[in-house]
Amino acid sequence: AARSMEALVSLCKRRGFVFPASEIYGGINGFWDYGPLGTALKNHVRDHWWHQTVECPPLDPDSGEPLSVLGLDSAIIQNPKVWEASGHVGGFSDPMVDCRETNGRYRQDQVEVLFVEGRGAWAFPENKPDAIAKKLRKAGVTIDDGEVKNLSQVDESLYGTIVAPDTDKAGTLTPPREFNLMLDTYPGVIRNEENKAYLRPETAQGIFLNYLNVLNTMRVKVPFGIAQIGKSFRNEVTPRNFIFRSREFEQMEMEWFCSEEEAPKWYDFWKHERMRWWESLGIDQANLRFRDHGSDELAHYSSACVDVEYRYPFTAPGFGELEGVAHRGNFDLTAHTRASNAKLDYFDQELQLRLKAEGVGKDEIKERSRYTPHVIEPASGLTRAVLVLLCEAFTPSPERSGSDYVMKFKPKFAPVKAGVFPLVNKDGMPEVAHKLYMELRQRFACEYDAKQTIGKRYARMDEIGTPFCIAVDGDTLENNVVTIRDRDTTQQERVGIDRVAAFLAEKGC
Ligand code: ATP
Repeated sequence: AARSMEALVSLCKRRGFVFPASEIYGGINGFWDYGPLGTALKNHVRDHWWHQTVECPPLDPDSGEPLSVLGLDSAIIQNPKVWEASGHVGGFSDPMVDCRETNGRYRQDQVEVLFVEGRGAWAFPENKPDAIAKKLRKAGVTIDDGEVKNLSQVDESLYGTIVAPDTDKAGTLTPPREFNLMLDTYPGVIRNEENKAYLRPETAQGIFLNYLNVLNTMRVKVPFGIAQIGKSFRNEVTPRNFIFRSREFEQMEMEWFCSEEEAPKWYDFWKHERMRWWESLGIDQANLRFRDHGSDELAHYSSACVDVEYRYPFTAPGFGELEGVAHRGNFDLTAHTRASNAKLDYFDQELQLRLKAEGVGKDEIKERSRYTPHVIEPASGLTRAVLVLLCEAFTPSPERSGSDYVMKFKPKFAPVKAGVFPLVNKDGMPEVAHKLYMELRQRFACEYDAKQTIGKRYARMDEIGTPFCIAVDGDTLENNVVTIRDRDTTQQERVGIDRVAAFLAEKGC
């Protein structure tokens, strides 16, 4: 059994984690449905993030008090002016070069797009002549780690003959053009440009739109955060790598509003908090790393940005993005102030008092204590986190009979916490096992299974990542003890039947 993406995608489908969307109609590129187990996994990650961010947030490193982070659930569709102000209408695009049909030799829809900035040179068939690739490299376009860079430098001399993927037929390149990644829609009855709105490409703007509402209603003071989890949509040119890059996905984002002076401190704080959080999912530290953005990668308003990266099977031995933590300055609130005329600045009374005590002059106090807060933004993908947990858990198990793979989820995130089995489906064992199942079921997602050999039942639980299997056997009938099998070690231990619920709770189920 291989640890390939194909094998993982196949397991996910076979065991009810993730299905291709609209599968009976041939699917739809870039969209996925989460099955019963995938939904459970996703909800567990979502709840863990919410719990650790909003309900029981980290403590303030100075005061030791819990930080203020408030929850939000804003609309997916907002006034289109939002996306003009935020820069998404003008700038949220990928430079793209597409392939034109030549001489009717292949259809354009078979080779829709060839080169997309930052998105991989999958169009270069590795085993085929790549004359254009050479030319592109000469012009300064680089293809590192499967990513195309500096595509905007492509000039006309390069619109030559290329070799199409998976065929050896030739075509031509169009000049580079900007392709906006927002999906649009038309709320209301009139379908024209004026009524065009967008599905949000990030949850973050909904937070900026509600900054003032939260400030006015929730008795909070800067610094504080607003957090949101929800769907986002991007018309990705090349959705790929299973659920890594899809056109509909979920994000977990927080905007942390603070003063300009404190922003570097909070940037550092959140960077390390976020890494700690990823480790709390049970991800091996060796598969996680930080990657600081170079000054050439930063948005013009941003003074620092770091990605938390994971070693995905399709990037290994390299890493790919999982989360970005950005110091966004006060770009967004300033942009919305300008575009909407709303007053989004903040009067910092504590700063005013402190400056007064320090003997600072009146005019300076006035100027410094009213400001537009700066923002630190940890932005991650929930669906991408699900992919990371799936990749991390996915373990070939050639030594076991019946299952090729074990999914080693941390018990807290496992979709099913325990399987309850009578060793054989007779001799009074099913009745005892079913009674235990009924008790456990009040607290834990668990399954009762009496069919097939016990080996087959274990194998199925291994493949869906159930951390514990509880067998009722002859000893249970005589001495009230069950056998609990550990998914990862296959070791069995004897536990009193009245201690099983406590056992599962202690193990973090
Ligand atoms: P990329 O450069 O990979 O397109 P990005 O830097 O544009 O990503 P952000 O806008 O910072 O991504 O979004 C924050 C997070 O949202 C990403 O780190 C990722 O986890 C997730 N994300 C972004 N786009 C997608 C997508 N198309 N599918 C799944 N998750 C996504």
